[in-house]
Amino acid sequence: MDSKITQLKKYIDEAEIVAFFGGAGVSTESGLPDYRSRKGLYTEMEGQKLNPQEVMSHKYLIEHPQAFFNRRPKKDRVEPEPNDAHKVLAQMEQAGKDIRVITQNVDGLHQKAGHRFVLELHGHSRTWYCMECSRVYKPEEVEKDEQNIPRCPIEQGIVRPNIVLFGENPDRGILEKSKETISKAELLIIAGTSLTVNPAKNLIHRFKGKHVVVINNEEIDTRNLKVDLYIEGKVGATFKAINK
Ligand SMILES: [Zn+2]
Repeated sequence: MDSKITQLKKYIDEAEIVAFFGGAGVSTESGLPDYRSRKGLYTEMEGQKLNPQEVMSHKYLIEHPQAFFNRRPKKDRVEPEPNDAHKVLAQMEQAGKDIRVITQNVDGLHQKAGHRFVLELHGHSRTWYCMECSRVYKPEEVEKDEQNIPRCPIEQGIVRPNIVLFGENPDRGILEKSKETISKAELLIIAGTSLTVNPAKNLIHRFKGKHVVVINNEEIDTRNLKVDLYIEGKVGATFKAINK
Protein backbone atom coordinates (compact mmCIF):
# COMPACT_ATOMS: atom_id res chain seq x y z
CA MET A 1 0.00 0.00 0.00
CA ASP A 2 1.12 3.53 -0.86
CA SER A 3 2.62 5.22 2.23
CA LYS A 4 0.20 8.16 1.89
CA ILE A 5 -2.77 5.80 1.87
CA THR A 6 -1.37 4.02 4.93
CA GLN A 7 -1.04 7.39 6.67
CA LEU A 8 -4.60 8.40 5.79
CA LYS A 9 -5.91 5.09 7.11
CA LYS A 10 -3.97 5.60 10.34
CA TYR A 11 -5.39 9.10 10.79
CA ILE A 12 -8.93 7.79 10.26
CA ASP A 13 -8.40 4.87 12.68
CA GLU A 14 -7.05 7.20 15.38
CA ALA A 15 -9.66 9.95 15.15
CA GLU A 16 -12.82 9.73 17.19
CA ILE A 17 -14.70 12.16 14.95
CA VAL A 18 -13.82 12.53 11.28
CA ALA A 19 -15.20 15.43 9.23
CA PHE A 20 -15.23 14.82 5.49
CA PHE A 21 -15.64 18.04 3.54
CA GLY A 22 -16.38 17.28 -0.09
CA GLY A 23 -16.92 19.16 -3.33
CA ALA A 24 -17.66 18.40 -6.97
CA GLY A 25 -14.53 16.26 -7.33
CA VAL A 26 -16.11 13.64 -5.06
CA SER A 27 -18.80 12.97 -7.68
CA THR A 28 -16.85 13.22 -10.94
CA GLU A 29 -16.12 9.47 -10.78
CA SER A 30 -19.90 8.97 -10.69
CA GLY A 31 -20.08 10.74 -14.04
CA LEU A 32 -21.20 14.12 -12.75
CA PRO A 33 -19.51 17.19 -14.21
CA ASP A 34 -17.28 19.52 -12.27
CA TYR A 35 -18.19 22.80 -13.94
CA ARG A 36 -14.86 24.35 -13.03
CA SER A 37 -12.95 21.78 -15.06
CA ARG A 38 -12.62 21.75 -18.83
CA LYS A 39 -14.89 18.75 -19.29
CA GLY A 40 -17.54 20.16 -16.99
CA LEU A 41 -20.91 21.76 -17.44
CA TYR A 42 -19.35 24.91 -18.76
CA THR A 43 -18.34 23.34 -22.05
CA GLU A 44 -21.67 21.55 -22.20
CA MET A 45 -23.46 24.90 -22.14
CA GLU A 46 -21.09 26.76 -24.44
CA GLY A 47 -23.51 26.52 -27.33
CA GLN A 48 -25.98 28.55 -25.29
CA LYS A 49 -23.40 31.25 -24.49
CA LEU A 50 -24.20 31.11 -20.81
CA ASN A 51 -22.10 29.73 -18.06
CA PRO A 52 -23.58 27.65 -15.24
CA GLN A 53 -23.02 30.43 -12.72
CA GLU A 54 -25.48 32.52 -14.70
CA VAL A 55 -27.97 29.75 -15.43
CA MET A 56 -27.93 28.18 -11.97
CA SER A 57 -28.65 31.49 -10.30
CA HIS A 58 -31.55 33.01 -8.42
CA LYS A 59 -31.65 35.88 -10.92
CA TYR A 60 -31.95 33.56 -13.93
CA LEU A 61 -34.70 31.49 -12.29
CA ILE A 62 -36.74 34.61 -11.54
CA GLU A 63 -36.15 36.35 -14.88
CA HIS A 64 -36.19 33.34 -17.20
CA PRO A 65 -38.16 30.56 -15.49
CA GLN A 66 -39.05 28.93 -18.80
CA ALA A 67 -35.41 28.69 -19.89
CA PHE A 68 -34.34 27.64 -16.39
CA PHE A 69 -36.68 24.63 -16.39
CA ASN A 70 -36.21 23.74 -20.04
CA ARG A 71 -32.45 23.38 -20.14
CA ARG A 72 -31.42 20.66 -22.53
CA PRO A 73 -30.36 17.60 -20.60
CA LYS A 74 -27.09 16.08 -21.75
CA LYS A 75 -27.88 13.42 -24.35
CA ASP A 76 -25.95 10.56 -22.79
CA ARG A 77 -26.98 11.44 -19.25
CA VAL A 78 -27.30 8.36 -17.06
CA GLU A 79 -28.53 8.11 -13.50
CA PRO A 80 -25.43 8.72 -11.33
CA GLU A 81 -24.45 6.03 -8.85
CA PRO A 82 -22.28 6.32 -5.72
CA ASN A 83 -18.59 5.70 -6.39
CA ASP A 84 -15.94 4.22 -4.09
CA ALA A 85 -15.63 7.46 -2.10
CA HIS A 86 -19.34 7.49 -1.17
CA LYS A 87 -19.41 3.72 -0.64
CA VAL A 88 -16.29 3.32 1.51
CA LEU A 89 -17.23 6.30 3.72
CA ALA A 90 -20.71 4.82 4.22
CA GLN A 91 -19.25 1.40 5.01
CA MET A 92 -16.93 2.94 7.60
CA GLU A 93 -19.88 4.70 9.21
CA GLN A 94 -21.92 1.49 9.22
CA ALA A 95 -18.99 -0.26 10.88
CA GLY A 96 -19.21 2.26 13.73
CA LYS A 97 -16.80 5.01 12.70
CA ASP A 98 -18.08 8.53 13.39
CA ILE A 99 -17.66 9.99 9.90
CA ARG A 100 -19.54 13.24 9.35
CA VAL A 101 -19.98 14.30 5.76
CA ILE A 102 -20.36 17.95 4.80
CA THR A 103 -20.93 18.24 1.07
CA GLN A 104 -21.20 21.02 -1.48
CA ASN A 105 -22.87 18.58 -3.89
CA VAL A 106 -26.60 18.36 -4.50
CA ASP A 107 -26.63 14.84 -5.97
CA GLY A 108 -27.56 12.92 -2.82
CA LEU A 109 -24.98 10.21 -3.57
CA HIS A 110 -23.74 9.91 0.02
CA GLN A 111 -27.28 9.07 1.16
CA LYS A 112 -27.73 6.73 -1.79
CA ALA A 113 -24.62 4.88 -0.59
CA GLY A 114 -26.23 4.59 2.85
CA HIS A 115 -24.44 7.37 4.73
CA ARG A 116 -26.51 8.74 7.64
CA PHE A 117 -24.58 11.84 8.73
CA VAL A 118 -24.70 14.16 5.72
CA LEU A 119 -24.95 17.94 5.79
CA GLU A 120 -25.82 19.33 2.36
CA LEU A 121 -24.55 22.92 2.23
CA HIS A 122 -26.11 23.57 -1.17
CA GLY A 123 -29.32 21.63 -0.61
CA HIS A 124 -30.70 18.78 -2.69
CA SER A 125 -33.36 17.98 -5.27
CA ARG A 126 -35.16 15.15 -3.45
CA THR A 127 -37.88 17.64 -2.63
CA TRP A 128 -39.08 20.75 -4.45
CA TYR A 129 -41.02 23.64 -2.97
CA CYS A 130 -43.40 26.41 -4.02
CA MET A 131 -41.74 29.82 -3.96
CA GLU A 132 -45.05 31.45 -3.01
CA CYS A 133 -46.49 29.26 -0.28
CA SER A 134 -43.57 26.90 0.59
CA ARG A 135 -45.63 23.76 -0.01
CA VAL A 136 -43.31 20.81 -0.55
CA TYR A 137 -43.56 18.50 -3.57
CA LYS A 138 -41.77 15.43 -4.82
CA PRO A 139 -40.14 16.32 -8.19
CA GLU A 140 -42.08 13.62 -10.05
CA GLU A 141 -45.47 14.84 -8.79
CA VAL A 142 -45.12 18.52 -9.74
CA GLU A 143 -47.60 19.73 -12.34
CA LYS A 144 -46.27 21.82 -15.21
CA ASP A 145 -47.90 24.69 -17.03
CA GLU A 146 -48.00 25.16 -20.82
CA GLN A 147 -44.45 26.58 -20.74
CA ASN A 148 -43.24 23.48 -18.94
CA ILE A 149 -42.69 25.47 -15.74
CA PRO A 150 -43.49 23.51 -12.56
CA ARG A 151 -46.40 25.21 -10.78
CA CYS A 152 -48.09 24.91 -7.42
CA PRO A 153 -51.78 24.16 -8.17
CA ILE A 154 -52.86 26.28 -5.20
CA GLU A 155 -51.02 29.58 -5.56
CA GLN A 156 -49.67 29.08 -9.08
CA GLY A 157 -46.23 29.77 -7.61
CA ILE A 158 -43.13 28.34 -9.27
CA VAL A 159 -42.11 25.02 -7.75
CA ARG A 160 -38.35 24.62 -7.63
CA PRO A 161 -35.74 22.17 -6.36
CA ASN A 162 -34.53 22.58 -2.80
CA ILE A 163 -31.03 23.49 -3.99
CA VAL A 164 -29.09 26.65 -3.18
CA LEU A 165 -28.59 28.62 -6.39
CA PHE A 166 -25.89 31.22 -7.04
CA GLY A 167 -27.03 34.41 -5.36
CA GLU A 168 -28.82 32.53 -2.59
CA ASN A 169 -27.67 31.80 0.94
CA PRO A 170 -27.20 28.32 2.38
CA ASP A 171 -29.67 27.18 5.03
CA ARG A 172 -28.65 28.72 8.36
CA GLY A 173 -29.32 25.56 10.32
CA ILE A 174 -27.15 23.46 8.01
CA LEU A 175 -24.43 26.09 8.15
CA GLU A 176 -24.45 26.13 11.96
CA LYS A 177 -24.34 22.33 12.14
CA SER A 178 -21.44 22.32 9.68
CA LYS A 179 -19.47 24.78 11.80
CA GLU A 180 -20.12 22.72 14.91
CA THR A 181 -19.15 19.49 13.13
CA ILE A 182 -15.85 20.87 11.87
CA SER A 183 -14.96 22.41 15.22
CA LYS A 184 -15.56 19.06 17.00
CA ALA A 185 -13.65 16.85 14.56
CA GLU A 186 -10.18 15.49 15.23
CA LEU A 187 -9.49 14.79 11.59
CA LEU A 188 -10.57 16.96 8.66
CA ILE A 189 -10.51 15.48 5.18
CA ILE A 190 -10.99 18.04 2.40
CA ALA A 191 -11.75 16.28 -0.86
CA GLY A 192 -12.50 17.25 -4.44
CA THR A 193 -12.96 20.95 -3.83
CA SER A 194 -10.92 23.99 -4.74
CA LEU A 195 -12.13 25.83 -1.60
CA THR A 196 -12.45 29.01 -3.64
CA VAL A 197 -16.05 29.77 -2.72
CA ASN A 198 -17.69 30.54 0.57
CA PRO A 199 -18.95 29.19 2.88
CA ALA A 200 -16.29 26.50 2.31
CA LYS A 201 -13.37 28.81 2.98
CA ASN A 202 -14.78 30.12 6.27
CA LEU A 203 -15.98 26.74 7.44
CA ILE A 204 -12.69 24.88 7.31
CA HIS A 205 -11.05 27.52 9.48
CA ARG A 206 -13.28 26.36 12.36
CA PHE A 207 -11.14 23.25 12.58
CA LYS A 208 -9.32 22.82 15.90
CA GLY A 209 -8.46 19.13 15.64
CA LYS A 210 -5.25 17.24 15.03
CA HIS A 211 -4.79 16.54 11.33
CA VAL A 212 -5.85 17.94 7.97
CA VAL A 213 -5.79 15.82 4.82
CA VAL A 214 -6.40 17.15 1.32
CA ILE A 215 -7.36 14.84 -1.55
CA ASN A 216 -7.56 16.68 -4.84
CA ASN A 217 -6.46 16.55 -8.45
CA GLU A 218 -4.85 19.95 -8.22
CA GLU A 219 -3.28 22.04 -5.47
CA ILE A 220 -5.76 24.12 -3.54
CA ASP A 221 -5.60 27.32 -1.57
CA THR A 222 -5.13 26.26 2.04
CA ARG A 223 -3.63 29.46 3.40
CA ASN A 224 -3.76 29.61 7.21
CA LEU A 225 -4.43 25.88 7.32
CA LYS A 226 -1.68 23.41 8.07
CA VAL A 227 -2.06 20.43 5.77
CA ASP A 228 -0.52 17.26 7.20
CA LEU A 229 -1.12 15.08 4.20
CA TYR A 230 -1.73 15.99 0.58
CA ILE A 231 -2.89 13.25 -1.77
CA GLU A 232 -2.89 14.28 -5.40
CA GLY A 233 -5.44 12.11 -7.13
CA LYS A 234 -9.04 11.06 -7.51
CA VAL A 235 -11.17 10.80 -4.39
CA GLY A 236 -12.92 7.52 -5.29
CA ALA A 237 -9.66 5.82 -6.24
CA THR A 238 -8.10 6.95 -2.95
CA PHE A 239 -10.89 5.43 -0.86
CA LYS A 240 -10.83 2.28 -2.93
CA ALA A 241 -7.13 1.96 -2.09
CA ILE A 242 -7.83 2.45 1.63
CA ASN A 243 -10.32 -0.36 1.58
CA LYS A 244 -7.87 -2.91 0.18
ZN1 LIG B 1 -47.86 27.27 -3.57
